[in-house]
Order: sequence, then structure tokens, then C-alpha cells
Amino acid sequence: MVSTVALKSDTRQRFLLESCDVRGQYISLNKTWLDACSRVDYPAPVAKVLGEAFVAAGLLAATIKFDGKLTLQVRGSGDVHLLVVQVTHDGNMRGLARWKAIPEQTSLLEVFGQGAQLTIAIEATEGAEPYQGIVALEGESLSDAIRQYFETSEQLKTHLQFAVSEHSACGILLQALPVDGRTEEDEDGFNRAVALAESFNAQELLEKDLERLLHLAYHQEQVRVFDAESVAFLCSCNRERIDGLLLGMGLKEVNDILQEQKQIEVTCEFCDEAYRYDRVDVDALFNATPGYENTNDDSGVAH
Ligand SMILES: [Zn+2]
Repeated sequence: MVSTVALKSDTRQRFLLESCDVRGQYISLNKTWLDACSRVDYPAPVAKVLGEAFVAAGLLAATIKFDGKLTLQVRGSGDVHLLVVQVTHDGNMRGLARWKAIPEQTSLLEVFGQGAQLTIAIEATEGAEPYQGIVALEGESLSDAIRQYFETSEQLKTHLQFAVSEHSACGILLQALPVDGRTEEDEDGFNRAVALAESFNAQELLEKDLERLLHLAYHQEQVRVFDAESVAFLCSCNRERIDGLLLGMGLKEVNDILQEQKQIEVTCEFCDEAYRYDRVDVDALFNATPGYENTNDDSGVAH
């Protein structure tokens, strides 16, 4: 089957439903999503949860203020045992899924197994303390689990809608604005916003841009839309990091591998970039690192 699909741009965009006291966030991943899937031949059910994780992580990163890297991770004992998506504050994303078998059902329990955990971690570029929140992976879908995470950690009513296809992964988040002295009546704004969001289906979420979606659902509400920010697939791996990995292994182990294979090749799991080290590279690396200058001295552990 040949189909031509006009690629939407990769954006995340904030909006306000002022008359509902609701803030919103929209994300549309297109080339980012194609790039994320181009490295591995993901079976459709695995691609679906990975796409949802990309959307979830993108929405979380756009909603939480941080300067550094946010990681969304699911670990379980089920068919899909690992799901990782990372987003930097400026919208660079990478992610992967690992599976033992192709899940036949779509519920979280069937896909990730009993006792699976969702971890949200934030590593700040500098200064700020790292943050880590771990919750049991509960609910029918990843959007359910993320909603529960928001409602527990931020005590804010949250609604999420995700849609994933081969070409696109899109999502929308609605959150009740914290309003002092909120009354029952104010809650109606959030409920109305959710009911209207549910009026558009997955196809519309995938194909229409934010302005069009908002017009469809909220033409009777007061809406404010902020500038779109770009999002892209960009891996943060680099040679310095692989250097650190080899130094962490220690010279003896690295030498053992070199003797066996003549060359060490480390491939990034996220982007497939291969980093190669031969004898000359290894000597240069270890000789330039304090604690390793004397390569025959194995009396101490180098840090
Ligand atoms: Zn990489």
C-alpha cells in the first residue's frame, strides 16, 4: 500500500482555555517519530507504546520547568520490559523500547507485566538537585498512568489524549489551573474542556494542527495560543561519554577486549552511532587520564 502523507512539523505548543480555567499543551511528533523508529523494526504494538511514551515525555517536559534532561522510563517483567524516552529542556528527544515477545493485548498489565514501574527522573544541567518519582504503572493505558502521576504529584486534575500512527505521534494535555478558593462551579470548566477534547478522534489529533483542533472543539470558549516550539530527534551521545564508559571499565578489561577483537566498538542504543577505539585510541585515552599514566601499576583503583 502506497500512501502519501504530508508531514506535519514537529512542535509543542502551549494554550489556555481561559473561560474553562484550563491550561493545555499540545505535541506533534512527525520526523522525530520517524527518526525514532528508523533504527529498530518495532512490531506495531511495541511501536504504539513507544510512541505514547514519546508523547507523554514530550508533554511532561513541556509542562514541568527544568533545565537539563527528563527521562521517562517503564520497567516491567512483561513482553515489553523496557521503555525509555529522554527529552532535554530545549526539545531534543531520543528513546527506545526492548521487548521479549510481541504483546497480544493492549492493556498495561498485558504489555508490561505485573508490578511494572513508571519512573520520571530529571537531571539538571547544573546546580539543581536531581528529581526522581516512581509510581506503579496502573490503568489501562500509558496516558492513564501519566494522568495518575500528575494528579498524585501535582494534585492537579489532568486529562491526556494520545494518538500514534506509523507517521505521527501526537498528544494533548489539559490541566485544571490552580485557582484559589475553587468552587464546584469552577470544576465545570475542566469537565467541559475534557468533554470537548474527547469530541475529536485519534485521526483528527494526528492530522490537524493545534489551531484547527482548538477551533473544532473550543470555538465557543476563550482560547489563547502561545508560540510553537520545535522538537527534534537528537541523541545526546558523544565520544566523551564513551571515553568515560571505557575508563569506568578499567584498563585491564579494555585491554582484554582489544586483544580479542583488535578494535572496540560501542554502539549507541538510541541512535545507532558507532564509536570505535583501536590500540592507539585506547592508549591515548588512558594515558591522558590521571591515575592511569602508569599502565603497569594495578595497585590502585582509578577514578
Ligand atoms: Zn546516540
